[in-house]
Amino acid sequence: MKCHVCGSELESIVTDLPFKVTNKKIVIIEDLPIHQCSQCREFLLDDFVMERVEAILEAVDTASKLEVVEYAA
Ligand SMILES: [Zn+2]
Repeated sequence: MKCHVCGSELESIVTDLPFKVTNKKIVIIEDLPIHQCSQCREFLLDDFVMERVEAILEAVDTASKLEVVEYAA
């Protein structure tokens, strides 16, 4: 798979990523499998990963400003 920004090879890695749900709410998802560009740090999520991320973000309790969730949980 190639980066859509710079054309370099994407690496499949597992990392923690922050998602901004609203202006006041950030959810950090840990151990997320993504494809990241080794050159420009642009990244891609597989469709099934994105679907799971969306489900996680929807399920998160909105009371706290910062939530940390494990992807594999
Ligand atoms: Zn790139």
